[in-house]
Amino acid sequence: MKVVLQNLTKKFPGRKKADAEVIAVNDFTFEIPDGELIGLLGPSGCGKSTALNLISGLLMPTSGKIYFGADDVTDLPPENRGVGLVFQNYALYPHLTVKQNIIFPLQNLKGKDKLSKDEMSEKAYEIAKLVQIDELMDRKPSELSGGQQQRVAIARALVKMPRVLLLDEPLSNLDARLRLQTREEIKRIQQETKITTIFVTHDQEEAMSISDRIVVMQSGVIQQIGKPQDVYDDPVNLFVAKFLGTPPINVFVGKVKDGGLYIGDDCILDVADVSDREVYIGIRPEGFILREDGPLCCTLGGLEVMGRDISVVSSHPGCQAPTIRSIISAENKVDLASKTVRFAVKPNKVFIFDKETEARIPFSAEDARHG
Ligand code: ADP
Ligand code: MG
Repeated sequence: MKVVLQNLTKKFPGRKKADAEVIAVNDFTFEIPDGELIGLLGPSGCGKSTALNLISGLLMPTSGKIYFGADDVTDLPPENRGVGLVFQNYALYPHLTVKQNIIFPLQNLKGKDKLSKDEMSEKAYEIAKLVQIDELMDRKPSELSGGQQQRVAIARALVKMPRVLLLDEPLSNLDARLRLQTREEIKRIQQETKITTIFVTHDQEEAMSISDRIVVMQSGVIQQIGKPQDVYDDPVNLFVAKFLGTPPINVFVGKVKDGGLYIGDDCILDVADVSDREVYIGIRPEGFILREDGPLCCTLGGLEVMGRDISVVSSHPGCQAPTIRSIISAENKVDLASKTVRFAVKPNKVFIFDKETEARIPFSAEDARHG
């Protein structure tokens, strides 16, 4: 089922008269193709849950439209939209068994959709198999691990075969290992059922790993939509560049002067096609090349060996953060006795942003080879 949002906006009035209203979702326009898994990604408070609740029908928009396929669902209540919902806190009925929890949504079906007891049971087992909890059907939620409880919640959301599956931070209550495992499960289930799915998270790694496309949000405004790798490789602004990637991108204050890109007095790249100005320079951790005659001279802090790679920890007065993290291959030798370390940079891992607007300033990498 294709989902279309058109100029979708949700404003909340301020608590008191004097308070400004909050625009939690600001003019969202985008289309989710049938069968895709979309990650809604942004920091806490950026409007992710509000956007999801508008799509589910739990909230009514201030303005704008929502379509499921050709159907305008904007004014439909949640129960008539055909959505399955999963929240962070499982929200299972504690006094019901797993099976009864999964069957619950089927019991309200009326008229021609009404199911017999056997049909409900059959459907429950079918879906329980899909999420791999069919051996636990007679347990109560309190007798399950967090991961298992969340699978029950997912099964319950899927049992009516919703047109759209909506997940709001579904992994946040799970420990690190279960989180990894369950997110792979969700991906598998989504690929098997091909149900159009919207997955909300503040965790960039989670969103990147699970989504066909991500929607990066800040303060109710969409910043960028694209395939995770494309957004990572080609961020539109400083916010998006900083939000994606671990370790995070290293941000420097710098300038473009006479066709050179400078951090302090170090000219790290030729950028002939950018006019003179003050800029922020973002360099991905994997964008550094260890080189004795490299143009960027940093104070060496230490090394963190991570097996395949080495993380060089250094500092530079031009860097916004106290430390710079650069990831280099473990074959490199770093002289720990040295006080400094010198780097060249990979042009496609360097981004320049306007100091005022923080928008990305393109430069051609072809012309940007140095030394
Ligand atoms: P997220 O899920 O990304 O953390 P939310 O969608 O919950 O963000 O909230 C977005 C913004 O809207 C926040 O500033 C929040 O305080 C505000 N907000 C959310 N729900 C309400 C509400 N019912 N009344 C007033 N403000 C709200
Ligand atoms: Mg939320």
